[in-house]
Amino acid sequence: MKTQFEVGIIGGGIIGQSIAYQLAKEGVSVLILESNKIGNGATSAAAGMLGANSELENNDAFFQFAKESQQHYHVLRDELSQISQINIQFVDKGMYKLAMTDAEASALKDVVKYHESVEWHSKEVVLESEPTLSATIKGALYIPEDGHVSPYHVCAAFSKSARLLGATILENTPVHEIKKTVTNEYTLSTPVTDFVCKNIVIANGVWSGHFFKKLGLDAGINPVKGECLSIKSNDIGLEKTIFYDHCYIVPKGDGRFVIGATMVEDDWSTVPTIGGIQSLIEKVTPIIPSISSAQLIDTWAGLRPQPIDGKPYIGQHPEGENIYFATGHYRNGILLAPKTGLMIRDLILNRKQNEDYVKAFSVNRLQVQTM
Ligand code: FAD
Repeated sequence: MKTQFEVGIIGGGIIGQSIAYQLAKEGVSVLILESNKIGNGATSAAAGMLGANSELENNDAFFQFAKESQQHYHVLRDELSQISQINIQFVDKGMYKLAMTDAEASALKDVVKYHESVEWHSKEVVLESEPTLSATIKGALYIPEDGHVSPYHVCAAFSKSARLLGATILENTPVHEIKKTVTNEYTLSTPVTDFVCKNIVIANGVWSGHFFKKLGLDAGINPVKGECLSIKSNDIGLEKTIFYDHCYIVPKGDGRFVIGATMVEDDWSTVPTIGGIQSLIEKVTPIIPSISSAQLIDTWAGLRPQPIDGKPYIGQHPEGENIYFATGHYRNGILLAPKTGLMIRDLILNRKQNEDYVKAFSVNRLQVQTM
């Protein structure tokens, strides 16, 4: 078994796979170590919304990064399908953010004044294209750029493409320890064997706090549990994603609708609760009254990796070690995966960076404790 690599990535979720794909494309020898199955963490729990405009409110570096990442899905759709033959199920029919009261309608109409890529649609226009919605709506903000993908398929497509381009991806191989060698490389200890890598990337989502601490940093990544359900119904015929009051309904290509998601802070359990699922059904019923006759297909829960300030850590160790962090993507890891892969690739290959992004996602915003 090969045990020496240029880059070793800890974590085989969508973030680790995106980085591995971009590096393998450049001919870099790359290893992913995944403690469980590829994409088994937060990645498979996600609804797959690419909500750059609906999730982020400030026109700052984070928003620009998210928009570029969203745009890059147009490239990846074709690229990944050509290499891996996997369809990432990219749907770009946009999103409706609903107003159910006059006050909400007026607040959403205001957004149109300073946000060029959104439009206000009256109740009549909304109901003409989405007749399943309740006639009590007041209208909606139409966000054409916020589509969705299948997170599971994106992760599988990155992974298969990276493998075909030469990456080594090992499942059921948890990294227990990172040690620096005398030649300034890093040993990643696993129950299988030790791997030696010139560069390492911490990309193990909500579990990465452990390595931050071991490397002398205090990341404060906390779990925010999210519960979802999926339904099927011949009476519901949505085209666009529907968003209202932190709740969304995403129409998937296979006829399912994914409804999510709760936000439970500091909860490490990945079992959905009756209360959580009930709260989602209660939120959706006034929007789509016909939901009560839908078939319940599945329920699940996953853990969002939430950093202290809500922004991901994408950057190098503050003391210039060849240790990189790509974690803490919180509610938007699926949206941000393409651009995260490109940015970590460029950092490792010493390519020119957008300084605004380097600053915004820097691990330097943490206090260095020891090394
Ligand atoms: P993960 O997918 O959790 O991957 C980390 C991997 O590291 C895991 O597979 C784990 O097994 C592995 N690992 C852990 N420890 C070790 C170790 N010591 N050694 C080796 N491997 C290890 N984002 C969006 O953009 N759009 C959405 O619509 C959306 N909806 C969401 C809905 C829910 C309910 C949830 C929970 C999240 C949602 N997200 C969404 C957020 C998104 O899922 C995450 O931000 C993203 O999946 C994080 O990816 P990741 O690769 O960092 O983490």
